[in-house]
Amino acid sequence: RGKRAFIAGVADDNGYGWAIAKSLAAAGAEILVGTWVPALNIFESSLRRGKFDESRVLPDGSLMEITKVYPLDAVFDNLEDVPEDVKANKRYAGSSNWTVEEVAESVKKDFGSIDILVHSLANGPEVTKPLLETSRKGYLAALSASSYSYVSLLKHFVPIMNPGGSSISLTYIASERIIPGYGGGMSSAKAALESDTRVLAFEAGRKHKIRVNTISAGPLRSRAAKAIGFIDMMIDYSLANAPLQKELSAEEVGNTAAFLASPLASAITGAVIYVDNGLNAMGVGV
Ligand code: NAD
Repeated sequence: RGKRAFIAGVADDNGYGWAIAKSLAAAGAEILVGTWVPALNIFESSLRRGKFDESRVLPDGSLMEITKVYPLDAVFDNLEDVPEDVKANKRYAGSSNWTVEEVAESVKKDFGSIDILVHSLANGPEVTKPLLETSRKGYLAALSASSYSYVSLLKHFVPIMNPGGSSISLTYIASERIIPGYGGGMSSAKAALESDTRVLAFEAGRKHKIRVNTISAGPLRSRAAKAIGFIDMMIDYSLANAPLQKELSAEEVGNTAAFLASPLASAITGAVIYVDNGLNAMGVGV
């Protein structure tokens, strides 16, 4: 039987989640995605209308199939967490079962189990503010959407993951080095995500034989990255200073995810894997 993957954080064909879905599909996996509720309608209608067909093409010429799209808001674990104004919001009221616990239940009902869990989402409402000017609310929101969302996803999906399964998230080097402009507590959120990767690798490994790794990716012009405002500068910086002077493609990150999810990586867990043309290894820009 082929493997089944659930990828949280796909809402267009520009981000890392989409590229990971493609690489996993090319390797024979069945693809399920979780799409942020406010982005669901436009993603599903674009998919239906063929807007992504060109980017659905796999190396063998076939088109990637997404078996099912689940609405998801990863800042809510269950209905009790959802405030009234969100419940009443038109876009949220239009779909149901989008809290983390409910999505895991739906996937279990629909498919029984999965083999691969991917977390490719982040959100920091104050990302454009320096840390020194970040509010408590903004900081905690960044941690909730970008770090705890992963703890929660893994917690709710682990019971339906087959032993030998693999879980992957996406991080950024701003967790360990100073990257001015990556504010609002997002650098803190990525530091938490990387630390949690180690602890979760231990817990999920011992209890369920599941591997947990994170990919520290270089800069990509995704929708989320454009919202931060400095992505072109980061791409230029990498081109000028990294050991490999080429633009990073999302596919390179996708292929690493497919490797990490495969038996080829059966002894790799608790790791931060850099896919950044080697930029992390530089001490100074030259
Ligand atoms: P993206 O816009 O494709 O992905 C982010 C996704 O998160 C979007 O689909 C958005 O709808 C979703 N999302 C936001 N809040 C959510 C919530 N509460 N519940 C569910 N989904 C939610 O952008 P991307 O850059 O590909 O981001 C994917 C991951 O890669 C993120 O973790 C990001 O931090 C990481 N990353 C990106 C870069 C880069 O340069 N683009 C570099 C390193 C790491």
